[in-house]
Amino acid sequence: MQSKLNKIINTPEFLGILGGGQLGRFFTIAAQKMGHSVVVFDPDKQSPAGKIAEKHICKPYNDLKALDELKASCSAVTTEFENVPAETLKYLEKDIIVRPSSKAISIAQNRIKEKDFLKECGIPVGSYVVIDSIESINNLDSKTLIYPGILKTAQFGYDGKGQIHVNNKTELEDAFKHFNSTPCTFELKLDLDCEFSIVLSRSVNEVFVLYPLIRNNHEAGILDYSSIHPNSASIDLKSLAIKLAKRIANELNYVGVMAVEFFLSNDTLFVNEIAPRPHNSGHFSIDACVYNQFDQQVLTLVGGEPQKEVTKFPISLMLNILGDLWFRNGKQMEPKFNMIAGPGINLHLYDKKEPRIGRKMGHITILGLENESQKDVVEKSEAIRKILWKN
Ligand code: ADP
Ligand code: MG
Repeated sequence: MQSKLNKIINTPEFLGILGGGQLGRFFTIAAQKMGHSVVVFDPDKQSPAGKIAEKHICKPYNDLKALDELKASCSAVTTEFENVPAETLKYLEKDIIVRPSSKAISIAQNRIKEKDFLKECGIPVGSYVVIDSIESINNLDSKTLIYPGILKTAQFGYDGKGQIHVNNKTELEDAFKHFNSTPCTFELKLDLDCEFSIVLSRSVNEVFVLYPLIRNNHEAGILDYSSIHPNSASIDLKSLAIKLAKRIANELNYVGVMAVEFFLSNDTLFVNEIAPRPHNSGHFSIDACVYNQFDQQVLTLVGGEPQKEVTKFPISLMLNILGDLWFRNGKQMEPKFNMIAGPGINLHLYDKKEPRIGRKMGHITILGLENESQKDVVEKSEAIRKILWKN
């Protein structure tokens, strides 16, 4: 069994991915480019990755028969998101390669486990307490009271969902009840100087590839835009972020692509959370790098070495396109993407038929071309935003 699980896959093979949204779709494109075939496992018939994969198993994640079919049809499985039940991964892990491991996913998919794990590893995290009952709220003493704070459900939150900002005990109780008393973390709301992330890849042979530090801007809990430029942070800050990210991956004995989200608050760096997969903020790598984060996901999944990160465009900006753009001036209409075409402007749409407020429909990467500064790229992105919203 051990030797089978340590197997290095010879190309071409069938590779599986749990979850078939935009991240799964980019994985599928990367895998197919390298000659592999892809089996997408996603209960959604309209899955963006399912539409382009060789096979789409359209069943719930706990359907054992369907999971057996997945096992029979591929040699290795990865995941596009952390909310796949850890039990599903454990079930697959018995017979086929699963990277990252169910253990890593089970930590990353539960904020309580994740925060406790980070703390145990000596990684700086913001103040938090676990709220799992009304008593745990009553038991908060004045020393642990952390208002204003954010109550976050331990599981299934994403894009700021499953979070409520609270200012006092009554609001905390109300928020906890609103979440049907499901276990939560309650975190001190930090005064943020800025947010960063790092995307890395770690191979079976523990070889790392690290992408440049990414600076992230969120709106209402959803990533709005990310920028990459050589002066995004001081050298000391970058090296500390890299050290922390590598330590987390080593502690998890991680194989695959991982993103670490950081907060900088009053000049102190904290880890916010980890994503056991490629990350929205790493999308710049599709257009700015020779090998993107999804190429590395494929390479580490098949047991190969990640490719050295080569950034062709050291300055870039990635703008998320949310469904909100389809609802301009009180009407529903298609955005006029043809109006923003130009050199260095890369539009990616995810083939989602139904635009909804807050739904990620695509992104645009604006590359800093020869002689263009970061300021030029920011100005271009603002112009693009204006054109899309005005027309
Ligand atoms: P998600 O899983 O939705 O990405 P996060 O915990 O990363 O959840 O929260 C989303 C965003 O909300 C963060 O990127 C940040 O902008 C804001 N946020 C979350 N926690 C805090 C905090 N403790 N203090 C200040 N801002 C926060
Ligand atoms: Mg986050």
